[in-house]
Amino acid sequence: MVTKNAQGAEKNKKRSMKSSQLMELFEEQLKDIYWAEKALIKALPKMAKKASDEDLINALEEHLAETEEHQSRLEQVFKLIGKKATAKKCEAMSGLIEEGEEIMKDTEDGPMRDAGIIAAAQKVEHYEIATYGTLRQFAETLGLKDVEKILATTLKEEKAADEKLSKVATTAINVDAAEEKA
Ligand code: ZN
Ligand code: FE
Ligand code: FE
Repeated sequence: MVTKNAQGAEKNKKRSMKSSQLMELFEEQLKDIYWAEKALIKALPKMAKKASDEDLINALEEHLAETEEHQSRLEQVFKLIGKKATAKKCEAMSGLIEEGEEIMKDTEDGPMRDAGIIAAAQKVEHYEIATYGTLRQFAETLGLKDVEKILATTLKEEKAADEKLSKVATTAINVDAAEEKA
């Protein structure tokens, strides 16, 4: 006969197996975004250099400074979970950065290239928003309060960066339209 206690123990065992698998998944995603942030620290200055619109250049440079913060926040997270900060190549981010490079190569200096840079940068931000959203949720489920807070801060900045790019896009397009009318 299975006693109530034995059933409880079985349930607990299943639960801790699940949470250790979630922890593994969490670590994998963490390594992935750590690679991505490092790659972006190299890619963002190149995008800023190729951009023409001053607001766009500012947005990219400001987000570069934030991205450096994101990298060190991830290092804090690794520390909090007792793991060495490790980067694992993120194929998705690598592809998105490559796409951005292609756009810059295929367009002439000016509003068209700027529009392409914004498109590429927003795809990057959306990938980051998805990843940090997931990581934050995992941290909550795993009961990692401090980690969750750190990830939520970065998530907020990624969302703000995306919104800022949208704003720059709207302004740039409006300016263009006005010029066309004149
Ligand atoms: Zn970031
Ligand atoms: Fe990835
Ligand atoms: Fe970002």
